[in-house]
Amino acid sequence: MTYKRFGNTYIVSIEKGEEVVESLKRFCEAENIKLGYITGIGASNKLVIGIFDTKEKVYSSTEVAGEHEITSITGNITTMKGQTYLHIHATLANSRFEAIGGHLNSAVVSGVCEVFVQKVEGEVDREFDPNVGLNVLRL
Ligand code: FE
Repeated sequence: MTYKRFGNTYIVSIEKGEEVVESLKRFCEAENIKLGYITGIGASNKLVIGIFDTKEKVYSSTEVAGEHEITSITGNITTMKGQTYLHIHATLANSRFEAIGGHLNSAVVSGVCEVFVQKVEGEVDREFDPNVGLNVLRL
């Protein structure tokens, strides 16, 4: 992973073989980014995406293999108990141009992954909401 800063905007290049979510977490910690948003595109052949069951309040996840375009990564950066917390979703397209998507748990880059990160001055922490079953924004 390499990156370059322009004001509060960072251009992040995650390289072949690297895992996207882990790389972005390391990047945020290295640059002390506690609040911001993410947009990206790329390619991956090994992903785990999830969906949250709002009734059962559990995540289920599935592995996705084979060549996929990451047609969109979108997400936010906040903190939970002061620690970097990433919430990222992704939409993928396979070789038949069919799209699937979900909560992005992990993605190993097979080509490139280009992520633009916008840092926001401030800090927003999360806390677990038992009513929803998720770590919600505490504003
Ligand atoms: Fe999510």
